[in-house]
Amino acid sequence: MTAFPITEAMPIQFGGPLPGAADVVIIGGGIIGVTTALFLARRNISVTLVE
Ligand SMILES: Cc1cc2nc3c(=O)[nH]c(=O)nc-3n(C[C@H](O)[C@H](O)[C@H](O)COP(=O)(O)OP(=O)(O)OC[C@H]3O[C@@H](n4cnc5c(N)ncnc54)[C@H](O)[C@@H]3O)c2cc1C
Repeated sequence: MTAFPITEAMPIQFGGPLPGAADVVIIGGGIIGVTTALFLARRNISVTLVE
């Protein structure tokens, strides 16, 4: 679990393998990217978000 608060000195890192496939790949985890991913996921569309 990542400590809180999150800082630029301690960015969240995902060490697992990337998904083999996704319906949508979003580049950039800003508000637009995260919100788009959320709304797609709510429609059961698989999303990979790359930040
Ligand atoms: C100092 C400052 C203060 C602000 N204050 C306000 C405010 O008070 N109120 C307000 O409404 N708006 C404010 N804004 C504007 C607001 O932050 C932006 O309009 C909003 O964040 C834009 O969202 P976005 O998702 O389009 O882009 P961003 O938030 O810029 O997200 C883009 C993401 O893409 C990532 N990225 C970029 N290139 C790549 C790449 N090649 N591969 C992977 N990831 C990548 C970046 O790391 C970033 O996380 C402020 C902006 C700044 C700079």
